[in-house]
Amino acid sequence: MAIAKRIVLRFPRRLVDRPIVSCLVKDFNLDFNILKASVTPEEEGLLVLEVSGEQEDYDKGIDYLTKTGVRIQSLSQDVTRNEERCTHCGACITICPTGAFELEPLTRQVNFLNEKCLACELCIKACPPRAMELHF
Ligand code: SF4
Ligand code: SF4
Repeated sequence: MAIAKRIVLRFPRRLVDRPIVSCLVKDFNLDFNILKASVTPEEEGLLVLEVSGEQEDYDKGIDYLTKTGVRIQSLSQDVTRNEERCTHCGACITICPTGAFELEPLTRQVNFLNEKCLACELCIKACPPRAMELHF
């Protein structure tokens, strides 16, 4: 069965320069599209990928990544917005790799579309009044 999933990978510093993700194509027949790539201040690599291919290949690829030392984002995490804190400054809009923030042109309010959120955590540090919260 063919699938397409969006996942968040976190690389320890020792793996940041290694071409681990290209093995997904070469060894596991998977396609990927990089939605966001960054290195955090702690020098941890962060990649948000859309991965597609056969479920069996996907499972093997994820297993390979995990064994190499890559942390795959736990799906049990959820990011919410504290509406009382949000000042609608818009700082989160360009940072979010999945377009989970939308500016309403008339009101200049920033809407948060939780269903698009992957819990990559990028907006949490970027939000000046710390309105974005991570829950486990
Ligand atoms: S960065 Fe924070 S305060 Fe600014 S619009 Fe986004 S959630 Fe609201
Ligand atoms: S955690 Fe924030 S930046 Fe990451 S996908 Fe969700 S809303 Fe976007």
